[in-house]
Amino acid sequence: MSRVAYVDGQYLPHRWAAVHIEDRGYQFADGVYEVIAVVGGRPLDEEPHLARLTRSLAELRIAAPMSNAALRVVIREVIRRNGARDGILYVQITRGVAARDHAFPATARPVLVVTSRRKRPVDPRAVDAGVAVITIPDIRWQRCDIKSVALLPNVLGKQRAKEDGAFEAWQVDREGKVTEGTSTNAWIVTSDSTVVTRQADSAILNGVTRLAVLDIIRREGYSFVERAFSVAEAKSAREAFLTSTVLDLLAVVSIDRAAVGSGQPGPLTRKLRQCYLAHAESAQ
Ligand code: PLP
Repeated sequence: MSRVAYVDGQYLPHRWAAVHIEDRGYQFADGVYEVIAVVGGRPLDEEPHLARLTRSLAELRIAAPMSNAALRVVIREVIRRNGARDGILYVQITRGVAARDHAFPATARPVLVVTSRRKRPVDPRAVDAGVAVITIPDIRWQRCDIKSVALLPNVLGKQRAKEDGAFEAWQVDREGKVTEGTSTNAWIVTSDSTVVTRQADSAILNGVTRLAVLDIIRREGYSFVERAFSVAEAKSAREAFLTSTVLDLLAVVSIDRAAVGSGQPGPLTRKLRQCYLAHAESAQ
């Protein structure tokens, strides 16, 4: 089955799908996006994703190109036309096409693109053995709560991790506290088994997976706190892990080459991953 993309009102073969060269997303990164998991042919946690999309649009004063009800129809149609049972859906909205000028154009119409791809299964070795992270300075802007397509610092950070033989880079603010990964939220488990993740302020993206995992933690009765933690605290934590729509929940077993805990995925991390996978399955 060949891939189909939705581009500004039309379903097109993926290889021909294109936007205008003066799309403001292309010239100014003037747009927002969502990545939604498709599980069993259905979008997982669609409501929190659409709520975050609506919020990102409002924060940047970009008009919604259609109602959320209509967007749900487009999302289902892209899934259907691509025969996607398990995959990833990408939704992007830019401020539209206009002659290049920094200020908002008077007449541009927002441009919606929806694509999907088969999810590359998370590498089983990463699940079994956990992953390494490095730490890097957080050089991003002060509104990381907005899921904007301006991802250059994230791109550079992820590349640095790759070149250092690590899986992800945890970004560190000026106070020496971890904000988040380049495309994941960061978590630790302290020696008294308290799960810690940074509060959802403007320094991080409030991950939909983060919210789902917090719900699981509350439901299962684990102790947790939303607060910033330092790199030193992370290195001496009992366990650490990361979360995202694409990766689910992966154990972090080393930070800057220093082993976290036993250097193996910890028991609470494993348990939370199982609960998260059950949440994904039960949503079908
Ligand atoms: N933080 C950043 C910077 C991200 O880009 C992402 C996902 O793309 C996340 C966190 C995780 O968010 P979610 O769980 O909604 O995928």
